[in-house]
Amino acid sequence: MRETDVNTGLLIGGKRVEGAEGERIAVLNPATGEPITDIAAGTPKDASRAVDAAAAAQRGWAETAPRVRSEILRAAWQTMVDHTEELAGLIVSEHGKPLADAKGEVAYAAEFFRWNAEETVRIAGSLGTSPSGDKRIIVHHPPMGVVVMVTPWNFPAAMITRKLAPALGAGNAVVIKPPRETPLTALRIGELLEDVGLPPGLVNIVATSGSGAWFDAAVDNAHTRMVSFTGSTEVGRVLLRRCADRVLKTVMELGGNAPFIVFNDADLPSAVEGAMVAKMRHSAETCTAANRFYAESGIAPEFTAALAEAMGAVKVGDGFDESVTCGPMINARAIEDIDGLVRGAVAAGADAVIGGAPVEGPGFFYQPTVLAQVDHGSPIAREEIFGPVAPIIPFDDADAMIDQANDTEMGLTGYVYTQDLARGLRVSERIHAGMIGLNRGAVSDPAAPFGGMKQSGLGREGAGEGIYEFCETQYIATNW
Ligand code: NAD
Repeated sequence: MRETDVNTGLLIGGKRVEGAEGERIAVLNPATGEPITDIAAGTPKDASRAVDAAAAAQRGWAETAPRVRSEILRAAWQTMVDHTEELAGLIVSEHGKPLADAKGEVAYAAEFFRWNAEETVRIAGSLGTSPSGDKRIIVHHPPMGVVVMVTPWNFPAAMITRKLAPALGAGNAVVIKPPRETPLTALRIGELLEDVGLPPGLVNIVATSGSGAWFDAAVDNAHTRMVSFTGSTEVGRVLLRRCADRVLKTVMELGGNAPFIVFNDADLPSAVEGAMVAKMRHSAETCTAANRFYAESGIAPEFTAALAEAMGAVKVGDGFDESVTCGPMINARAIEDIDGLVRGAVAAGADAVIGGAPVEGPGFFYQPTVLAQVDHGSPIAREEIFGPVAPIIPFDDADAMIDQANDTEMGLTGYVYTQDLARGLRVSERIHAGMIGLNRGAVSDPAAPFGGMKQSGLGREGAGEGIYEFCETQYIATNW
């Protein structure tokens, strides 16, 4: 790990404390499998205490002028940018992604503070007259109150700031449960927020080794008004059921299974470049990752060969080595899952053009892999791979291919490559996904609404609407 002295206590009410039971959990470097350090782990009691602390701080914050809140968010953007090297180093240490990707993540994560600093002073309501003319209708958007946030390990900084910045901008206080795999980046962001003058208690960070009981305690605390979750659809369903008990507002950013469609008329070099971006950024562990490649028969052989060549040029290794373009997977379980899907596809007749096996340890590495002649019904085309594996499914009939692309409970992202823009737009509209990359391999942008259709989620993060997710709507009837 690069030099850092992140305080590894829980952050509750502006104080660094140990968990009620004094438990510590190890944080591992996935490039070596060795522990980096350990951090305090909270109990259900700590989670509830953090909600109380958030509630105590929130009222004053909601009454703070939007401009003042906005300036603090803007300072948070600046300090994250100023600490890019340090934050990126933490991300590489605990997640493993290549340093260049980690720096990209810091820039993206920081931008949510700048974007939402601008949105904070523009939360708009409305004034209308009822059709009967008997009253005026005043609509405004107060904050929700206390928001509980649960985040995944694949973007240790950005999956926090994408929620945190709009939540704070709108006047809320939060309790964050960072993932146990990557808590250090979260804790450091908490410190940077203190440094720019965010009042204590507004951001509470409580890691745990027992997520289920932690979550139960957090949502059962009467102060909690909302849950914002990013993670797998499987866990999202569990949390939604739990939130139903208290009818809590939820935003759910869940799993993906993106189709990447290449038509015969696509520009081959840009399709391959886009495929590499959509598949391999951040060590292939993104929710927006291209999961299945549908290549029209006329271009499929060339596309497969060119993609295999590009995958062959990927350097796998420790993310701190600046020549590395794919780091380790998060843990041994991830390697087993990826390898199981690859073996299953090969056993069912797919051809491993390149790769197809784990890399020997230490650390958790998988060979960049291209599988040709994959069947649409194969588990590798139906489950989220979350690893450096590109299964290619050839097609002739575009309508049938679109049906296959939509034949999934997920609907987060899709990618379409064609030089016929009208066709590209038509096909994009027919893909049931919240985000489409049309002749582009990356969709994420703080200025765009991020989120999924179907079981990929509920609600949106970023753009104009992101901040309203953290607001109530109140209407006042009056006349004068
Ligand atoms: P995960 O669902 O296993 O875990 C996410 C978080 O939930 C972690 O903090 C985990 O500790 C916590 N958790 C697990 N069980 C819980 C429970 N019973 N109660 C409360 N919390 C619980 O996901 P992951 O492996 O960390 O991340 C990968 C997944 O996240 C992938 O499916 C990916 O697609 C998805 N993801 C989605 C987006 C998006 O914006 N849509 C972004 C990033 C990742």
